[in-house]
Amino acid sequence: MTASATKKLKPGDTIGILGGGQLGRMLAMAAARLGLRCQVFSPDPDSPAFDVVQNATCAEYADVEALELFANDCDVITYEFENVPAATAMILDARRPVLPAQTILTTTQDRLIEKNFITQLGIGTAGYADVSSAAELRTAIAKIGLPAVIKTRRFGYDGKGQAIIREGDNPDQVWNDLATKSAILEAFVPFEREISVIAARGADGHVECFDVTENEHCDHILKFSYAPANISDPLAEQARGIAERIASALDYVGVLAVELFVVPGKNGATLLVNEIAPRVHNSGHWTLDGASVSQFEQHIRAIAGWPLGKPVRHGQVTMTNLIGNDILDYEKWMTVPGATVHLYGKGAPKPGRKMGHVTEVAPAAPK
Ligand code: AMP
Repeated sequence: MTASATKKLKPGDTIGILGGGQLGRMLAMAAARLGLRCQVFSPDPDSPAFDVVQNATCAEYADVEALELFANDCDVITYEFENVPAATAMILDARRPVLPAQTILTTTQDRLIEKNFITQLGIGTAGYADVSSAAELRTAIAKIGLPAVIKTRRFGYDGKGQAIIREGDNPDQVWNDLATKSAILEAFVPFEREISVIAARGADGHVECFDVTENEHCDHILKFSYAPANISDPLAEQARGIAERIASALDYVGVLAVELFVVPGKNGATLLVNEIAPRVHNSGHWTLDGASVSQFEQHIRAIAGWPLGKPVRHGQVTMTNLIGNDILDYEKWMTVPGATVHLYGKGAPKPGRKMGHVTEVAPAAPK
């Protein structure tokens, strides 16, 4: 039996959050503003989300007893990361509604299944091929061409578990270095820019998308987001339409992010979906200060069975991630006119570790 039917929460009810990072922390803060309580489940005693909730469970995701006790305390359960183990989600789902639904994780945890799903919807992606050995990699290179990007099917993030293959590279060496049994080879996309759409879908099927965001990465990690993206209105409409179709096809409840490439072409730019994140997303952090309702609040509203907000952007927004030692400048950021500083309360800065972010909103000129 599954408990994943929609249940309408009331103020004072408790949302369980799997994962204790900054996303869980910001979800819990958004829930608190709406009079909802959160209980965070994370194996890491230093979880930043623990600091902002009264009740926390520090246990492994395989700890069945801890999961059962956690579920008993919650009215609905959500997650801040996509690699929730299937067994963990199943144990929870048998006791309380898990939203977004557990079945969505099966699609989004595996790049091959995800790409097949997107393709079946008639939505464009980079050309791709399934690769399970060095021999298959050679065949895939012959089909896809070079340069190409090889990615592990599971557990890749921030550029980890992937490599660019160029003319002259040795496929056997590339395959050995990737150290995986299952991967996909993707055609290298000569994109003009990277964008994302943060979409919220309610239990009633209603979808609200934020304005399209443009994203700049540094060493494979998101560094800046700009809203709105510098693309034409019809292309932005198309991007939002793609996110809405994906959310509806997944029968999704909550917030999801769709990352896309904008590819220049003779007849204008086209869009290819790179990946789907079944959760709130770093490229949506600007909504905390730059819109009337944030991605975190939209997610909480959706899983609570409450009406979604109609997001109105306050102006031209820039979000800057504070990564690693960037955090040492937090006092400088505090005096920048119009800047809002968010620090995640993490311990020591490490290279690549997301420590906080800053939002700057330039108000729109009066019409
Ligand atoms: P991913 O882990 O799939 O989000 O990839 C991380 C980053 O690598 C993306 O944001 C792009 O900047 C780059 N990238 C991923 N796939 C491709 C591709 N097929 N072609 C060109 N760049 C890519």
